[in-house]
Amino acid sequence: MRKKIVTGMLAVSLVFMMTGCCLSHDWQEATCTEPKTCSKCGETEGEVSGHTWEEATCTAPKTCSVCGETEGEALGHALSEATYWEAAACSVCGETVGDVLAPAFEELGVKGQFMEVGETYDYSTALHTRQEYIDMILDDFKERFGVEGDYADFTDFFMEGVYGDVDSFEIDGEMVAVTEENLMRQFSEGFGVTGNFENLTEVFLTAFEKNAGIDLDARITARATVTDYQVFDSDETHEGKEGYEWKTVEMQIEYDTPDEGGNVFYGYDSYYIKDEEGGQGDGEYGEYEPDWDNEATHTVSWKGQDYTECRAILTESNTGWVEDAEGNSSLTCTLKFDFLYPKGYDGGLLYLSDYKNRGVRPDNFANTDENTLFFRLQ
Ligand SMILES: [Zn+2]
Ligand SMILES: [Zn+2]
Ligand SMILES: [Zn+2]
Repeated sequence: MRKKIVTGMLAVSLVFMMTGCCLSHDWQEATCTEPKTCSKCGETEGEVSGHTWEEATCTAPKTCSVCGETEGEALGHALSEATYWEAAACSVCGETVGDVLAPAFEELGVKGQFMEVGETYDYSTALHTRQEYIDMILDDFKERFGVEGDYADFTDFFMEGVYGDVDSFEIDGEMVAVTEENLMRQFSEGFGVTGNFENLTEVFLTAFEKNAGIDLDARITARATVTDYQVFDSDETHEGKEGYEWKTVEMQIEYDTPDEGGNVFYGYDSYYIKDEEGGQGDGEYGEYEPDWDNEATHTVSWKGQDYTECRAILTESNTGWVEDAEGNSSLTCTLKFDFLYPKGYDGGLLYLSDYKNRGVRPDNFANTDENTLFFRLQ
């Protein structure tokens, strides 16, 4: 009897096994790597689907869109170089990374003041440069000593021009060697000037200042106004050019020091582009004059393109000294700047700088300071 029961139990369990498992499977949905599977009995149904790969992109590796599994690495962007006008951009996905380059004007922390059309600004400037006085006195000396030729400074003039053929000269009845030190001694005593002079030029300038009653560092404050600013394609006197536009600026500078006159030093530069080599324009150091072409053309780089036909034309005039009813004199200098620039270009920068900088090459705005007036041709 007992044996029978066991057999019966076995039969029941066999029935169970033969039907697979439970009365109902507990199916787990198929995944990329596993088919649909019963969690109770392990039975499977259907096939393994495999991953649904999406190709690697600049920022993501090859990835399964279903399970998120990844393979390999992201490709990385294929970035262009940032410019002053555009951030670095990926040639594959178009995404931009980082920022545009800082314009030279901002990067260099240039000091100065921007002018607005119709507003009047103080233009503080030296009246002369030391070099002008040096040249003037040297010219006078050449005549006086009957010496010809070009001389860099007073030392050069005396050592080469005057005493070139002799070894010694007389001071206070004593013969001394022709050296800069002895020349300085002779002339400082002769002119009655004392001080710790570094060179002969200093001796002469100090003597000139004292004896002629002139302040070499005299300054004036004139008034500068941008009276007109126009942007246009062409007119009767400005021929149009495809891809370019004219930008004309009229600036007036008013002086009221007839005894001393007035000078202005101006130029133009690029707001954006730093001069890696130092110095703009074609002038040699020491004889720099802003590059007004009036006839020729110059090149401006703008948004990845070189515009080789740009123009910078200057017309200068002045009223001469005029006296009003109260006896106050004034002179107005009018500067007209006509620029032919790439259409939409906003990097043109005019400046009025201290006259003491005349002849100094503007190496990355080196001749500007807080007194410099800028007008940006936007
Ligand atoms: Zn099952
Ligand atoms: Zn997958
Ligand atoms: Zn990319």
